[in-house]
Amino acid sequence: MPELPEVETIRRGLAPRLTGRRILRVDLNRPDLRFAFGDGFAPALTGQTILGVDRRAKYLLIALAGGGVLLSHLGMTGRYSFDPEPKTHDHVVLHLNDGVRLVYSDTRRFGFMELIAPGELAQNRFLAGLGIEPLGNELSGAHLAHKFAGRRTPLKAALLDQRVIAGLGNIYVCEALFRAKLSPRRLTGTVKGARAEKLSQAIRGVLQDAIAAGGSTLRDYAAADGKLGYFQHGFDVYDREGQPCKKCKKTIARIVQSGRSSFFCPRCQR
Ligand SMILES: [Zn+2]
Repeated sequence: MPELPEVETIRRGLAPRLTGRRILRVDLNRPDLRFAFGDGFAPALTGQTILGVDRRAKYLLIALAGGGVLLSHLGMTGRYSFDPEPKTHDHVVLHLNDGVRLVYSDTRRFGFMELIAPGELAQNRFLAGLGIEPLGNELSGAHLAHKFAGRRTPLKAALLDQRVIAGLGNIYVCEALFRAKLSPRRLTGTVKGARAEKLSQAIRGVLQDAIAAGGSTLRDYAAADGKLGYFQHGFDVYDREGQPCKKCKKTIARIVQSGRSSFFCPRCQR
């Protein structure tokens, strides 16, 4: 599943190719992805000029000159490409006025698109309840300590809570906890002061490093230009159960928390 750094990498690949282009035609090769497109979807996009490509958490937000926004979530296997040749799994094709075909394909179809009407971005059902952007200015030790105060849940669960920090997924939570030397089992309410500050810096750092590496490539992910990322070779703990810790050589452990695997070093992380 693409995580935030992958989505940001895709955004950076799409933005220069889409900004200022007009959508001449929209081909929908199915009535739905995870959700139905609805009858008005293609007509409302047709003729629109694209003003820019933004991101909120793991949602791509394609701003349109008419004031609306095309929201796109990649689900598990969604990808964008500029393939000029039609393929079987081309689910959505935007024909742009410079002759480019922007293709969205999604073999498992957990992704979705929704056209948000002008002025309704803030109230959108997917965006309204989201917490702060982990790459934005609001992320700080003080903010985390405030949100965590009094909470008795494991720290891992608090970091995956999208109402606290939006767009942070399992891989980067594991990696950030290793960098901050905090156990995924630690009680959330104990993270304050210097610990909270270190954690906020670890979250930002691990995401920035992943973006700099072009996003991680796990199954079925490719950046918009088709190039594969390679950050997974740099993971410190994620998917490294049984291997030695890169810092202390102790064996990396895996536990299951809220149905997700947590990978951590039992010696470095307390
Ligand atoms: Zn260690």
